[in-house]
Amino acid sequence: MRGLGNRSFGGGGRRGMGRGGGAGAGPGGNCVCPQCGTKVPHQPGVPCFQVKCPQCGTNMVREGITPL
Ligand SMILES: [Zn+2]
Repeated sequence: MRGLGNRSFGGGGRRGMGRGGGAGAGPGGNCVCPQCGTKVPHQPGVPCFQVKCPQCGTNMVREGITPL
C-alpha cells in the first residue's frame, strides 16, 4: 500500500502583489484596439476594456498590454 499523504505544501502561501496596486496602470496613456490598432486617449475613470473602438467596435485594451 502506498501512502500518498506526504504532500508538502510550498511556502505556506505568499500573498500580496508587492505594491499596493490599485486601479489600472496609472493615469495617462492610451487605449488601443487589439483588432485594428486604433488608439484613443485613456479617459480617467473609464477602464479601456469598457471603451469600444470607434473604428470596429472592439473592446479596447490598455496600451502596452497586448493579450496574445
Ligand atoms: Zn478597432
